Amino acid sequence: MTTANERITQELRQRARQLLESGQVAAFVGYTSGSMPMVMQPFVARTPEETDRLEWNSFCVLNLANYLPALLKSLEPPRRPGDPPPEGPLPKVGVVATGCWSRNMVVQIQENQVQRERLVIIGISSRGMVDRKKVLGLVGHADVTSVKEDDNSLLVKGPGLEQEINRWDVIRDNCACCVHPDPVIFDHMIGDLKGERKLGERFKQVEEIENMSVQARWEWFTSEIDSCIRCYACRNACPLCYCPTCFVDDSRPQWVGKSIEPVDTAIFHIIRAYHCAGRCTDCGSCESACPMGIRMRILTKKLQKDVLELYGTEAGMSLDTPLPLSTYKLDDPQDFVLTESLKGEKK
Ligand code: SF4
Ligand code: SF4
Ligand code: SF4
Repeated sequence: MTTANERITQELRQRARQLLESGQVAAFVGYTSGSMPMVMQPFVARTPEETDRLEWNSFCVLNLANYLPALLKSLEPPRRPGDPPPEGPLPKVGVVATGCWSRNMVVQIQENQVQRERLVIIGISSRGMVDRKKVLGLVGHADVTSVKEDDNSLLVKGPGLEQEINRWDVIRDNCACCVHPDPVIFDHMIGDLKGERKLGERFKQVEEIENMSVQARWEWFTSEIDSCIRCYACRNACPLCYCPTCFVDDSRPQWVGKSIEPVDTAIFHIIRAYHCAGRCTDCGSCESACPMGIRMRILTKKLQKDVLELYGTEAGMSLDTPLPLSTYKLDDPQDFVLTESLKGEKK
């Protein structure tokens, strides 16, 4: 019997092939297998034949929206500074989108990084993705040579290893607390929309830390980022981090030191998180990309919670809802600006 992901893979290949054959898109962004088990790599198919390499499974963890601005730009005719904009419609790109990725695309459209009319979005309602680090933890970090996926379990094999794992036990933290699995914008759907998930403990990870004393929170933060090697994989995997020069790379002025001095590392994480406030969709791409297993996503999740409580909005839910930090209304709530500093903190 074919699994849900195998059926999605088949339909995805057919749709991508159709789009490329008919000339509706110049390229299609999806996934293909990486060089190791449980690693999928983003893949751009440019010919109908290449769509046979597309695959869909529970390890498609890097947010595909991240690749759109540069790919769309690369398909435009070359222009020198001062040249007029090209005439006529520009080439389109096909792309797969789950709930959070589609919301990042909405943010990119609102921030003028991509144009909606240049995207053909194939929507997939997400079943959640698996955290390979959790799988490796469950098998005692043994060598894994293959993982076979069923709808609800994974069969992990390696030298002297054969272990069946419940898929839900190794789901990524962000997927476990996701309430918006459906794409918010799409041109074609594979499968049905699932609707919103009802979840009582959506911000559990954040609330656990909020309930700590200031000192304990600082200790949690410094110990969490202690092993950071400043590789910036988290930043590079994020579809919100498209600045031509990131503040960490600037040397005139140098906003933050480039070493792994704890204070520099802390500044990097705090500033990056704030740059994502009101824009982050909790896609988990940053955390999945981290080679050191740092849970920096909890920082952006905290800001997502604050923005929801203070402004009543979540990033990318609709093209018509402006991003909270890029708009200003006279009746915006602002009591918290004063009260937070006056009410004192738990010691
Ligand atoms: S961390 Fe901030 S400055 Fe750096 S790329 Fe991301 S948004 Fe831009
Ligand atoms: S900060 Fe992390 S979770 Fe938020 S949009 Fe970027 S990659 Fe996704
Ligand atoms: S990916 Fe991990 S190790 Fe690399 S900069 Fe980000 S938090 Fe640090």
